[in-house]
Amino acid sequence: MAYDQTAAEARPTTAPQPQGAGRSASDLAMRLDAELRDAHPLTILRRAHETFGGGLALVSSFGAESAVLLHLASQVSKDIPVLFLDTGMLFGQTLDYRKTLSTSLGLTDVRDLRPAFADLATVDPKSDLWRTDTDACCEIRKVLPLDRALGEFSGWVTGRKRFHGGDRLRLAVVEESEGKIKFNPLANWGKAELDAYAAEHQLPAHPLVAQGFPSIGCWPCTKPVDDPNADVRSGRWQGQEKTECGIHVARAPGAAPNVGDGI
Ligand code: SF4
Repeated sequence: MAYDQTAAEARPTTAPQPQGAGRSASDLAMRLDAELRDAHPLTILRRAHETFGGGLALVSSFGAESAVLLHLASQVSKDIPVLFLDTGMLFGQTLDYRKTLSTSLGLTDVRDLRPAFADLATVDPKSDLWRTDTDACCEIRKVLPLDRALGEFSGWVTGRKRFHGGDRLRLAVVEESEGKIKFNPLANWGKAELDAYAAEHQLPAHPLVAQGFPSIGCWPCTKPVDDPNADVRSGRWQGQEKTECGIHVARAPGAAPNVGDGI
């Protein structure tokens, strides 16, 4: 498939350096993980913010479980940059939820990341690439927009949890990824803790949760799940081996984008 890498290569290179610059990112990640692996999510977020300040971003899908992490982050700083991947394929309910939840939590810097027009025109002009190549579709609609946005940051926060299974079973609280530090404050929490936190703080649920969606992504690749014992992410890319969109899959330095390489 023809592919234009121009936008992907035009990443800023001026990310703020964390305290302790000179130490490699992997050393810093190991040290922070040893310190924080059993810590409360709020402690992890505070330490992340203390370490990176304005060089820290949080990535949120504004999905089924997103309110917990966003509420925790808003306790640390309402100005933290929140990166939201607006793929152009999201449910209308997600777009509404992104607005109402951001407002209710007082978040001041939620950034909508959209696919590059040139990528859509070249690779997915009919917006139907998801039918034939979900990896390539995720690449232009998620991976590359996030890559471009993360260029200015040295650390980022995700909402991944071990109980989601798959590759996430071995998830560290702090890890190194492509030279950046990745914090997973909710890695240790299960559904009971998430539900308890949401209830305690009266957090609004994504409207599709009540319709049977335990995990919510793009509408073509997300289905409701009838079995209450099924994996949380079993409604994503049903019938495919694919379990991740690719934004959490590390690439070798200088490697080409993950277009169609079976991530
Ligand atoms: S989740 Fe589906 S529609 Fe969304 S970017 Fe990936 S393949 Fe495309």
